[in-house]
Amino acid sequence: MVSDETHNKTAKSIKDSLDWIKKGIPQLTGVVEAFAELLVAKSIAKSQISTPGFSNVEIDVARFSQGVPVLDDRKIEVDRDSFRTVALLLIPAIKKGFPKIDVDLNRLESFVANDETAMEQLRPALESGSATILGDMAVKLGISPEILQFVCSELAKPFAEKAEEAIAPMIEGLNWLKGYCPVCGAWPTVSVLKGNEGRRFLNCSVCGHEWNYMRTQCHFCENNDTTKQEIIFSEDRKFEYAELCHSCKKYIVGLDTRNLISPPHPSTAPIGLIYLDVLAQERGFTPGATVSMFRDLTF
Ligand SMILES: [Zn+2]
Ligand SMILES: [Zn+2]
Repeated sequence: MVSDETHNKTAKSIKDSLDWIKKGIPQLTGVVEAFAELLVAKSIAKSQISTPGFSNVEIDVARFSQGVPVLDDRKIEVDRDSFRTVALLLIPAIKKGFPKIDVDLNRLESFVANDETAMEQLRPALESGSATILGDMAVKLGISPEILQFVCSELAKPFAEKAEEAIAPMIEGLNWLKGYCPVCGAWPTVSVLKGNEGRRFLNCSVCGHEWNYMRTQCHFCENNDTTKQEIIFSEDRKFEYAELCHSCKKYIVGLDTRNLISPPHPSTAPIGLIYLDVLAQERGFTPGATVSMFRDLTF
């Protein structure tokens, strides 16, 4: 569990970061407000759950150094009540931010609240992220598969973040040279430059883990030919950019925090950089981070 003080600090940091984005780019106000409730609800959810258990807590250093993420072969044990708590905090928050999909969200919320076996029924969709399984469950519930996928991926995140907090100290100091997350294996959503030397860190889209990665190499395809890499940015916000790779045609948005007085909370950074996603995608590049689920979730 997280203390109230820690939780309040996180909630304040999220709110301040969202205000900073709105002030800097007023056009993003609608997007910021849509995600604000969800971000705060996720932080509350995280403060109310315990760290999930793992089937095996030993780190296999040899496998890890070959690029196998810690959670690759482990089951995450999440208790059913925690899952229901998180679902009943997050679904209403998503509803507030995205009122256009509230009919589907109401159906899902009432299923979770009223059906004793809801969590068991949702488990295959949560575990696999498979389009077929999600599609079958969505038909059963009478909701859109895209909405179900979005909600499932958000529900997994507080547990993934708690798992990350437990695992991060175990891998501190170990070498990791991959562009995907050493904890959960997901791709990062944002690349951040920090410190006097401008070291580059990647931030995981699922568990929030941050790890150091070479500046001159594409973290997707490991191409280090700088003539195939391009940075795009807006002239008036040069500290925000998208890194494009002409070799694999993927991109990641980035933030240079070196001259920022208070860098935004990592969970909010991708929202403030959405305009760069638009620019990169208009040029035919695709984001690398896709929705990732727990592969072996157990209740
Ligand atoms: Zn991760
Ligand atoms: Zn690449």
